[in-house]
Formats: sequence, structure tokens, C-alpha cells
Amino acid sequence: MAQSGRESGELMQRPQYLSTAAFVHDKSGKNDMTDAAPIDVTVPPKVNLIGLSREQMEAYFATLGEKKFRAGQVMKWIHQQGITEFSEMTNLAKSLRVKLEQYAEVRPPKVTHKHFSADGTRKWIIEVAPNAMVETVLIPDGDRKTLCVSSQVGCALDCSFCSTGKQGFMRDLTPAEIIGQVWIANRSYLDDGEFSGRNADGELTRTRALTNVVMMGMGEPLLNLDAVLPAMSLMLDDYAYGLSKRRVTLSTSGVVPMMDKFTQAIDVSLAVSLHAPNDELRNELVPINKKYPLSELMAACKRWLVHHQGSEVGRRRVTMEYVMLAGVNDQPEHAAQLIELLRDVPSKINLIPFNPFPHAPYDSTPRVQIIEFQNQLIRAGYTCTIRATRGDDIDAACGQLVGQVKDRTRRAERWQAQTRNNEIIRV
Ligand code: SAH
Ligand code: SF4
Repeated sequence: MAQSGRESGELMQRPQYLSTAAFVHDKSGKNDMTDAAPIDVTVPPKVNLIGLSREQMEAYFATLGEKKFRAGQVMKWIHQQGITEFSEMTNLAKSLRVKLEQYAEVRPPKVTHKHFSADGTRKWIIEVAPNAMVETVLIPDGDRKTLCVSSQVGCALDCSFCSTGKQGFMRDLTPAEIIGQVWIANRSYLDDGEFSGRNADGELTRTRALTNVVMMGMGEPLLNLDAVLPAMSLMLDDYAYGLSKRRVTLSTSGVVPMMDKFTQAIDVSLAVSLHAPNDELRNELVPINKKYPLSELMAACKRWLVHHQGSEVGRRRVTMEYVMLAGVNDQPEHAAQLIELLRDVPSKINLIPFNPFPHAPYDSTPRVQIIEFQNQLIRAGYTCTIRATRGDDIDAACGQLVGQVKDRTRRAERWQAQTRNNEIIRV
């Protein structure tokens, strides 16, 4: 039965990835005005397979009358081989390839700029709409290759030390735009020729390129959880990137109710942008703290730990991120408060040297003082690391997504007015 206009309007507003109904190609919508009215020849948009989780891909293949395992084969071509053309998916029947070409596509996000640093760091700027851009950064460290992924264009939470926050919020990314960042980084290694041969199916096999993914780029992932979850499930999926749950991390500034939803929905690592050991200071640095103060944030961390501890051999811990701001949160008394605050929350602390940006109201704590702060925490029995700063020559530090990216919000305009000479060159 045809839906009423109101219902179908609502359905259309629903993000496509939330509903398998969006996969149905059979257009039953009729033009019922008059017999003479022009025939509606609108072609339904193709389904972008890059953003579908395994479950959604299988549901989609069912709508095509295809077997489940075909979904897995296509996922491997897309995510493991970096292939976007159905004609190159050689283990699919010709008839299926033709059908897919008609109804579906594999469309990664559009890269407008890329910068590869001398130290191996790679950065891509992705345009998701005119003047709406996000960054993805890959940071190599020994055997490890960590990709820092964005979840939103800009961010509404306006932390005082964060250049993303200064740009304001523009829009959520879709699952295809989130996992697409992983696809782009992976593809760049495939293009480098990191293959080791072909398997029995004729598929290219390779040494694994990415080892870790952190949701620490632009945006607050818990405010876009509906899109972040299917994307993260692909990071873990053996038919896609097959990363271990300990090597996939979601970072949040502490949106407490969504932390519980995240805890129930997926098992990956959790990082919390703590940055201050008391409410007074945290209210100033991370304004969402006024809504969800430290007592509630710590309780949510404990619930995450309890939920995931059970099935585990070895203890899970929350990573507490703490940006070192000179004279603001870096004194011995702050370390002492931190030691108390985290006493019953199994955690490891990651000290982040502040990454300055034009007109930033802070300076970074001098290195020797960061080390003293670290030692105070280590003496109290904590695991405490200092984040290495990499990719300085391409402004690529994770979490430091400079106001070079344009958007149209007022906050961004104000900010950009102060930072006029801070633009990058289109390549
Ligand atoms: N919104 C999420 C994830 C993105 S921010 C969150 O806040 O956790 C990723 C990390 O980079 C956060 O810990 C953030 O506090 C940090 N960060 C932001 N601006 C920074 C800067 N200028 N220097 C160093 N770290 C920064
Ligand atoms: Fe948003 Fe995270 Fe930046 Fe805060 S630190 S403004 S939550 S991106």
C-alpha cells in the first residue's frame, strides 16, 4: 500500500543507513494527478555500499534476491582490495555485476588535498559538501599505523583549546563518510604496492596496512553515534578491516547518556578527553562538563568497565586524555587531584602536548614540566604516557585540525577573521 505523503516524507528524512527499507528499488510511488500527467522518471539514488555494515549488506543482497555470502565477497573487494568498480569484482557472476551497476555504487568521499610528511604521517582533506571539509590523519609509529578519523564537520561543544570547536558545528558525517576515511588511507597503502600476492580466488592479499583507528579527528563521535556504530563495526569486521577491538578507540569529551548507549552497543576501546581534575577547571576547558560533571563522567566510565570486564582475560582500562596547557592544568596540585579522581577508575593517562593554533589562548607546557607531571602520576602507580607529536610539517597532529577548513558558521567566520593567512593550498 502506498504511504501517505506525511509518512513517506518522514521516511525520506530518516538517514538511509537507519533503514533497510531504503534498499528497496521497486518504485511504487505513483503520479496520481491525471492520466495525462508526465510519467515520473526520477531515478532512485544508487545505494552506496561502502557505508553498509555486514548486517545491512546482507539485507541489501537479500533485496536483490542474492545469497548472503555474496555480501561478504563484495565487502572484501571494497574494503580489503580498495575496489570500487563492480566490473573488477571477478568472482561475482556477470549478471550480479550488471545488477549492482544498475542499483548500487561504491563511492568513497572526495579527497581535495593530501599531504604526505617526511616522517611518514599522511593527511587527507575530504570535502563532503561545498565548503564542508574534514581531515583524516595517519600517524605511523614503528609497526603501528594509527588513523585518526573524523565523525562530524566541526563540533558544537566548543572546548576552549580545540580549533575544531572554534569552527562551530556544520553537520554529521554519514557512515560512508566515516568508514570512507579508513578506505582512503587503506587504499593509499594499496596504491603504494603493499601487496604480497594473490589468493586462490585471485584476490590481492597484502600485509595489513592500518593497525589502529582512533575516533579523535573532528567532531564528537557520541553525538553522531547512529553513523559511528556501523562504521566502527566495519573497522572490526573480518570481511572489512578486521581490527582488534583493543585497537579501535572512540574518544569522547563526556556526553554521559550516549556513553551508556555506546557501552551497550559495541565493544571497542574508550578514551575520555578529561583535561582537568576538578569541575571548576573542566567547566572552563570542556563546557559539556557543566551538563555532565566529573562525578557523572567517572560513574559512566565505571559502567563501561564493568560491562566489558566480564568477558575479558586481562583488564580493560579507560584512556584519559589530558592536554597540557601551560599554567592552567599542569601544576603538581593538578596531578595530585588527578591521582585522587582516578583512584577507583582503572585507567591509563595520556598527556597531550598542546598543539598551538593561531590566536589560541594557551601555550603548551614545557617538555620538562610535562615529564615531571608524568613522573608524579607514575609514582602514584598510574600508567602515564606522553603523546608523540608527529607530522609537524603538515600540521597533522591528531586532534589538531586547524581552522584552515572553511565552513559557514558565525563562530567560524569570527575565528577565520582573526586567522586570515591560515589557509592551505589546493593541490
Ligand atoms: N570530540 C572528541 C574526539 C575528537 S578530539 C573528544 O573531544 O574526545 C580528539 C582529542 O584531541 C581530544 O582529546 C581533544 O581534547 C584533543 N585536542 C583538541 N584540540 C587540541 C589541541 N589544540 N592540542 C592538543 N590536543 C587537542
Ligand atoms: Fe569537540 Fe572534541 Fe574539540 Fe571538544 S575537543 S570541541 S568535543 S572535537
